[in-house]
Amino acid sequence: MADPVRIYFLGGLGEIGRNCACLEQEARLLLLDCGLMFPDVDMPGVDLVLPDFTWLRENADRLEGCLLTHGHEDHVGALTYLLREISFPVYGSPLTLGLARNRIEEGGLLDRTELIPVVDGERRQVGPFDFEVIPVTHSVPHGFATAFYTPQGVILHSGDFKLDLTPVDGRITDLGRIGAIADGHGIRLLLADSTNAEEPGHTKSERSVGRVLRDLFIAHAGKSIVTACFASNLHRIQQIADAAVGTDRIIATLGRSMAKNVALARQMGLIDIPEERIVDIEKIGDLDPGRVCVISTGSQGEPMSALALMAAGENKWLRVGEGDVVILSSHAIPGNEYDVNKVIDGLYRLGADVVHSGLADVHVTGHAMQEELKTLLAITRPEHFIPVHGEFRHLTHHARLAMQMGVASDNVILAEDGDVVELSDNGIEFCEEIPAGFLYVDGIVGDVGHGVLRDRRVLSEEGVVVVVVTVDSRTGEVLTGPEIITRGWVYAPEADGLLEEAKQAVLASLESAADEGATDFETLKRHARQALGRFVSERTKRRPMIVPVVMEV
Ligand SMILES: [Zn+2]
Ligand SMILES: [Zn+2]
Repeated sequence: MADPVRIYFLGGLGEIGRNCACLEQEARLLLLDCGLMFPDVDMPGVDLVLPDFTWLRENADRLEGCLLTHGHEDHVGALTYLLREISFPVYGSPLTLGLARNRIEEGGLLDRTELIPVVDGERRQVGPFDFEVIPVTHSVPHGFATAFYTPQGVILHSGDFKLDLTPVDGRITDLGRIGAIADGHGIRLLLADSTNAEEPGHTKSERSVGRVLRDLFIAHAGKSIVTACFASNLHRIQQIADAAVGTDRIIATLGRSMAKNVALARQMGLIDIPEERIVDIEKIGDLDPGRVCVISTGSQGEPMSALALMAAGENKWLRVGEGDVVILSSHAIPGNEYDVNKVIDGLYRLGADVVHSGLADVHVTGHAMQEELKTLLAITRPEHFIPVHGEFRHLTHHARLAMQMGVASDNVILAEDGDVVELSDNGIEFCEEIPAGFLYVDGIVGDVGHGVLRDRRVLSEEGVVVVVVTVDSRTGEVLTGPEIITRGWVYAPEADGLLEEAKQAVLASLESAADEGATDFETLKRHARQALGRFVSERTKRRPMIVPVVMEV
């Protein structure tokens, strides 16, 4: 009997983002990614969503470290929050660590966090974990798939990947190595990226975007060109720069993360832009429009980003207007469509022309589509399969693909956040559940909690009604009030009659309570809330938040 291996799913199985899993072997733990998720429209005021760290906190003494598959926020963005509570070494490619480093540094955690680089093809031992990192192509360079050599055979995790045969840096997904592992050891369990499992066909090569960009730059000769893409999409940035240099333009970056990432990538030799082709954004205004190329952040319409400010005519560095061209070399992540549309509209209103992925092929996805997923399944021929990274619908479609490709249906596991699976000599099975709810971050404070979110939803949809009353603490008699203050329920200046009736309803309820001998603050508060709630609901068929304020003298 070989030792069993467990996998704890802390996030990313049931949503896009928040990718986080944990391997357990010989009672030790290795974290695989620690990502965040961007909030949905039904999470008002929430900045970020993190995995629930309760279980990790309780098992911190067993944690050997965290391996990062690549530098995207949905894989590394929650790390700083966890590192505040627990210390552990972080492994990843030099670029991934470089991207994560900024955040760790901002959190003041660099001193006590060991960052350990691993390079393509390296095999490493961390505690009882023996793993090998395998190059994969994705929309950020230097992503890894990982083969874990465990007592239960090889567990292969694809990471975020696509099969691009002509990537900008020539670093292709190493199917040869994956095939060799499959032929040699066999793949006991495959975990693979499901983001595009619903999309038929094959993704286009990143290089195809380069050609489109170049044509656009030529077509808009003489005009100032502003482009926007993810600051981590270094291959895209390179191709924008190539189009700019090829049409004799000078490049400036706009937005803090764009400036930081471009500097990091140039330093690491991952982006090649001649020194004389880069100027500071402050100087870009001195150039003829036809020589300008700005590469900006804000392709997701993020409200305070460089591009959103530009669309509102409020960017300190850059004004766009009549005759300028803005190229959005991106695709809105689900949940961001509204913000992106607002930015596009704002840019048109200023007189600029906007090119986006709905009009030209200025973006390709970084996630494998069905034919690529099938190729990976064909090469790995896994005994067991668990789709990861995706909403439940994506996981479901990926599971179907696996069965189509010959994985026994009993061996295809649809797991969700909070599930724990155990791989043993007997196969794979669910064994326990751990807390894996959403942790909502607002500002720099931790969890705002479900209660706060529920309140925000009620406030945004129904408004609030506050009743203020002063009572005699000995008799319960009402001394002043009730006063009613409301926002978002009825327009108060035009609802005098209704508010007066509401006051009477509260007053009557408090008087009858006092008659029955109720003098304590909690009971009176409850009476006020119930009476007002009933009145509001009966008369207006609405359910605003009712806040009773009872003062005793
Ligand atoms: Zn990614
Ligand atoms: Zn991802």
